[in-house]
Amino acid sequence: MENKKSKTDSRRQFIKKISTGSLLAASGLAFSSITSCKDSSEEKTTLLTTDGKLVEVSKSEIKTLENKHITPEESRLGIPGKKWVMVVDLAKCKNARKCVDVCDKHHNLTPDRPYIKVLEMKDNDKSAPYWMPKKCFQCDNPPCVKVCPVGATYKRSDGIVLIDNERCIGCRFCMAACPYSARVFNWAEPPEENKDIPYSPETSMPSKIGTVAKCDFCPDMLRKNKLPHCIPACPNGVIYFGDENDDTVTNGDETVRLSTLLKDKAGYRYMEELGTKPRVYYLPPVDRMFPFKKNNDEISES
Ligand code: SF4
Repeated sequence: MENKKSKTDSRRQFIKKISTGSLLAASGLAFSSITSCKDSSEEKTTLLTTDGKLVEVSKSEIKTLENKHITPEESRLGIPGKKWVMVVDLAKCKNARKCVDVCDKHHNLTPDRPYIKVLEMKDNDKSAPYWMPKKCFQCDNPPCVKVCPVGATYKRSDGIVLIDNERCIGCRFCMAACPYSARVFNWAEPPEENKDIPYSPETSMPSKIGTVAKCDFCPDMLRKNKLPHCIPACPNGVIYFGDENDDTVTNGDETVRLSTLLKDKAGYRYMEELGTKPRVYYLPPVDRMFPFKKNNDEISES
């Protein structure tokens, strides 16, 4: 009994470490593929897959892609074998806005052009309001991509819709075509300290004045086997992320089966009737963790 408890505790500790990305970056394996891991020697490491199988691999076989510069050409391909997916649990959101803050910080965004908006929603006169974080849904049938006259925005094999700002001519057809108003326009020059960074569509850095931008699921983080910035930043575990091919998503603290989560909690996609096939699912705001409050100062403490 005692032994079982200590194993459970160490498993919990491991999952906690996943939320920081530290072990993931070291292992070089996708975060959604691992639930436990243990060093067995200097040369070997043991990993537990999402299917519950222990596999022993040589450490030399595990490579990290940290800090590799991805060129505009490479960025068109996507990360092989992956189909990224996001699930947002509306029952847990209290508009703490930590996701917005961390996204703004890492993408050098100003408050007038956020990639994430937290909308106040109310389905009808008799129901209670709730908060809904909204960003680009990385649609599988993206109207924004179809209207771009220069091929600056594109759909990748891993599901992400990206923008090459070196090719973008700023016509804004994509902004008009997106039914979710997910795109923003770069009205300003990038900060001085970013100007010498080699440009990559995977980081959108440095941003380019006169072009379009949006949420991109942080592909630079995914290449480092880390979660997009907004996910560990949320104090309430609202956002789950993972690989649809693995049928697994995590919010950093808990890892669950995507198909089970969507079935058990009646997951849906926003305005799905448009045929856009978003890669972001929502779980309805039932059995809410927090009462709805408008005063952001009051509720910003996690
Ligand atoms: Fe394009 Fe809008 Fe869909 Fe994002 S949400 S892929 S910008 S249509």
